[in-house]
Amino acid sequence: MAAAETSGTVAAPGRWSLHGKMALVTGGTRGIGRAVVEELAALGAAVHTCSRNEAELGERLKEWEARGFRVTISVCDLSARDQRERLIGDVADRFGGKLDILVNNVGTNIRKPTTEYSADEYSFLMATNLESAYHLCQLGHPLLKASGSGSIVFISSVAGIVALFSGTIYAMTKGAMNQLTKNLACEWAKDNIRTNCVAPGYILTSLSEGILANKEFEGSVKSRTPLRRVGEPAEISSLVAFLCMPGSTYITGQTIAVDGGMTVNGLYPS
Ligand code: NDP
Repeated sequence: MAAAETSGTVAAPGRWSLHGKMALVTGGTRGIGRAVVEELAALGAAVHTCSRNEAELGERLKEWEARGFRVTISVCDLSARDQRERLIGDVADRFGGKLDILVNNVGTNIRKPTTEYSADEYSFLMATNLESAYHLCQLGHPLLKASGSGSIVFISSVAGIVALFSGTIYAMTKGAMNQLTKNLACEWAKDNIRTNCVAPGYILTSLSEGILANKEFEGSVKSRTPLRRVGEPAEISSLVAFLCMPGSTYITGQTIAVDGGMTVNGLYPS
């Protein structure tokens, strides 16, 4: 797989760079997705991103252009099948029918006991967190194959690795993503497409700020985390970038937790 990219010494040109790469990062206006857009762009990639909020996308775009990043945008609700198809059409047009990197970042949560979820909430979470990523992989496959060294990175969660006390639908979507990572790594290796997954612990973003504002909850998270703090989006984007680089071309099918040691500690307070 992409042997030409990895040959040579540590100093081989391009080994730690994303120059010339073309990337789609979903949900790039805030939190982890924003950090990934900026990390990949700073390392030389041309990046396309999307979200549902046109005004916020426009603001981000101005900031990125001011920093010299090569980023383009689409307004898109990834929970809708036709909008996913349109997004990949935009990407194919922009990148000439090729895509080197697909980061499936979009995801959300509704925290409540299992007995209280409605059928609509179930469908919404499944469509947003899992079906969207699955379908984007299907749609993106010909583009990633055409790249000759494609890399897919899913953003799942520690909630897909260990069991928490609420959020069963979220946990199922993330657990399924971890398994999908392994299956696609096997199925698409022949197409020179690698597939890996980054599973964050608690990271301070607009998704988590509400729950982390509860000081008791935040204290319990920190007490279960050996590093005694929540993470920053940039601590996720660095690993995502590595998984897309020529320096990682023998890594595929892996789910890597970035959680301050939370899962290796078995989530026990200490
Ligand atoms: P945020 O809510 O901060 O950001 C989510 C981004 O995705 C925004 O840009 C948002 O824009 C976009 N988005 C959400 N829904 C859609 C949609 N249907 N269509 C298109 N864009 C959408 O989330 P985080 O950065 O915290 O989370 C990113 C990923 O990381 C998620 O998959 C999450 O499950 C995972 N994760 C997060 C953790 C955390 O503690 N923060 C922990 C573990 C995993 P807009 O709403 O305007 O569309």
